Amino acid sequence: MSGDIVRNLQDVRERMKAAGIRSSTPGKPVVLVAVSKNAGMDAVRTLIQAGHRDFGENRTREFGLKHEAFGEEARFHFIGHLQTNKAREVVGKAALIHSVDSLRLLEEIQKLAKGMGKVQNVLLQVDISGEDSKFGADKKEILEMIKHNESNGNVRIKGLMTMAPHTENPGDVRWVFRELGHFYVDIARKSFYNTCMEYASMGMSNDFEVAIEEGSSMVRVGSSIFGHHS
Ligand SMILES: *Cc1c(COP(=O)(O)O)cnc(C)c1O
Repeated sequence: MSGDIVRNLQDVRERMKAAGIRSSTPGKPVVLVAVSKNAGMDAVRTLIQAGHRDFGENRTREFGLKHEAFGEEARFHFIGHLQTNKAREVVGKAALIHSVDSLRLLEEIQKLAKGMGKVQNVLLQVDISGEDSKFGADKKEILEMIKHNESNGNVRIKGLMTMAPHTENPGDVRWVFRELGHFYVDIARKSFYNTCMEYASMGMSNDFEVAIEEGSSMVRVGSSIFGHHS
C-alpha cells in the first residue's frame, strides 16, 4: 500500500514533466503540493521518507495535527476555505495560505501575523469561472486586496490560486487557467509593495496537466497520489 503512494507520486511527477514540456515555458519548475486531506499520518510519513516536502490540507484541525506531527520535516499549505475566526489556527504555521479571498480575511491574517512578529505568505483565490461563486474573489476585488496590502507589513502576497469547475473533459476548463495566467501576468507587470507574483496555484488530479500547459507553477494533487475516497 505505502509503495503504491510513492509510485503514484512518481507517476504524477512524470506527467507534470511531460506537461511542462508542452507549456509555453518549458523547464519552468512546478511545485507539487500533495493534498493529504483524506490521507492518514502514515501516508504522509511515507512520502516524507521518500523525500517529498509539500503537503496541502483544507481543514484547520487536520492541518494543525499534521503540522504538529511533521512541521519540522515538511511544509504544510492551507488550501481550503478559511473562515476569519479560524485564521489563528494556520497563521504562522502554513508555508502558504492559498485561499485568501476577502479583505476581511487578509486583515485578520495581518493582525495575527503582526502579533506573532511573523510574515505570512499567502495567495489570493480568484474566482475566474463565476461558477463557484461561494469562494474566491473577482478580479476587481483581488486588485483592491493587493492595493490594500501595500501597507500590511506582515503579509506577503506570493501569487494567485484558482479552482476550475469539475468537468469530465479537462480541456473544457483550459480557458479558466488561461485567463488566470493572463491576470497573473498583468499583476506581475505592475509593481506593488508586499506583492510578488511567484506562484500560480492551479491544477488538481483531474486537470493538472492542462493547468501546467497554461502556466501553472504549483499544482495541488490529492486523489491521484493517495487514492480516491468517498
Ligand atoms: C481536495 C483539493 C485538491 C485536490 O483534489 P484532488 O482532485 O483530490 O486532486 C486541490 N485543491 C483544493 C482546494 C482541494 O480542496
